[in-house]
Formats: sequence, C-alpha cells, structure tokens
Amino acid sequence: MKHKEQFYSNKDFNRAAELREVVTDTTNVSFIPIFKGDFFVTKGEVGTVLMQVPLELVAHTNKHYFLGVVANQEVWCVDLSEITYEIITQYIQNVTLLSVRDCLHLINEQDASLLAYAKGLVSWHNTHQFCNNCGASTVIEEKGHRRKCTNSTCGIPHFPRINPAVIVLITYNGKNKPPLCLLNMHQKDYGYMCSLFSGFSEIGESLEDTVIREMKEEVNVSVSDITYVASQPWVFPASMMLGFTAKTKSKEFTIDNKEIKKAQWFSAAEIKKLVQAEKLVISRKDSISHFIITEWVKQNS
Ligand SMILES: [Zn+2]
Repeated sequence: MKHKEQFYSNKDFNRAAELREVVTDTTNVSFIPIFKGDFFVTKGEVGTVLMQVPLELVAHTNKHYFLGVVANQEVWCVDLSEITYEIITQYIQNVTLLSVRDCLHLINEQDASLLAYAKGLVSWHNTHQFCNNCGASTVIEEKGHRRKCTNSTCGIPHFPRINPAVIVLITYNGKNKPPLCLLNMHQKDYGYMCSLFSGFSEIGESLEDTVIREMKEEVNVSVSDITYVASQPWVFPASMMLGFTAKTKSKEFTIDNKEIKKAQWFSAAEIKKLVQAEKLVISRKDSISHFIITEWVKQNS
C-alpha cells in the first residue's frame, strides 16, 4: 500500500525548536485562541476560524504555548478557558465555538494540522498541572514544550507525551476468489459506517505484538504478515495512530461484543457497491481508517 501523509500531519510545518529557549519579540507574533478545546468561528454564512487575537486579551492568561514559525512570524496558541466570558467578548464578538473536526470545511489541511497541534498541546498542559512524581505544581518551560516540577527536592521535567495505538486492516486471500477485508461495522440511520480495528500499545509490547494481541481480543483472529502503512497524529486527546495491514489464513472470527458490535468480510467490489448505494460510509474522511480502506478498495478493484 503506498504511503501518504495523513490528515492533521504537516511535514512542511516549521516547529522551530531552536526558538523554544529564545525570548520572543511579541511585536511579531500571532496567537491562535482556543477555549475548552474548541476554536472560535465567526458567525455568518461562511464562518472563518479565528487564527489571531489581540495581545491585550492574550495578556489575561499565562497559558500561551509556542507552535512554530509561519512566514517569518512566530505562531502561538493561547488557552482562554479560564478567562471570563465578559472579558473575552470585549475583544472577540460575533463568534461561536467549534471543535477541530467540525471546522474542517472552513480551513485548509495546513491550518487543520496547526489547530490539531494546538489542541493537543493545550490538552497536555491542562492535564499536567501537577508533578506525577511528587504531586507539587508544575510550571511552563521552553515556551510550552516542557513543564517543570516546582518542588526543589524533586524538580523533574515533564515532556508532552503521546500514546501509540495501532489501527489494522485484516485481509484474507482465498483460492481463486477476490481478496477480502474484515471491517468493523457501526450501525447508522442509513446503514453502516465501517472502520478498522484498533487498540493502544501496552508497556513491554512492540507494535507488531499489539497488532497480534488486539486482533485476537477484538475479533479473535490470528494475524501474520504485519505491514506498516502510515501514521497519523490523533490529538483526541493524545494518540498516535499507526496504520497496518495484516493477513489471516482463516475467515473465522468472533466479535468481543464490548468494543466491537459487528464485523463483516467484504470484497472491494462489494464495498464499492454499498458505498454507491449509500448504505455504507467508509469512516470519516479525516481518519487514517478512511485512507487505508479506500486504498485497499482501489488496489483490489
Ligand atoms: Zn515533582
């Protein structure tokens, strides 16, 4: 399966890590506002996502975090969650709040990745206010890319962490028959939305170990020939999705009835037919699940 850069990632974005310990010239900075994990969108027929707010509003909080550099300007995000509505509306009017995923029709892929990055970083800060070693409070360092424990006898640094999770397309090749893939089916009004099987990597596991264990747990399928496809930052709230394909020698499966409610084998032609009949939707378009299933259908049609 060919590799493709996934939604919410942006290899061309300049994170400018060398500037994290350099004092910022605040006359040449933009601050993307975020409020309880959502973004401000102007009201009106075509909304615009607010990518900048006045410095006077930014000054009401110390929750600002450096993201990188765009067109020679430092781009930061500012978490306004603890500022009162009365103060915010002195600077921002006629806006509503939307999640990153609900903003996608209003922004390009570069801005989507920037908002996702901001959301993930803010979320990490909000859940790491206290040291997990000694319980003392932590403070922002390196413009938001590190927190430090304030207890002088502990003082350990804390870095933003992500949780790796595998997401897997299981395939089966029968003799003289079209190849099949096993999909995770979610019932909807129109029929089904399908996705892949996924799960978090555990301590002491390789990613391949996780693929084998999760496929066994969720659908009781033994897999081999595990092949990496692509990865996707998934900041909802702090994951890294690692996409794989894996083969199985038997069509037998049993759903766990906890995470998986229905699973089904399909050929590429069957998927295409159901999608055309609007009875099946292949995941949400921003997901790596959508990419992997769509690529497999293309390659096997
Ligand atoms: Zn500590």
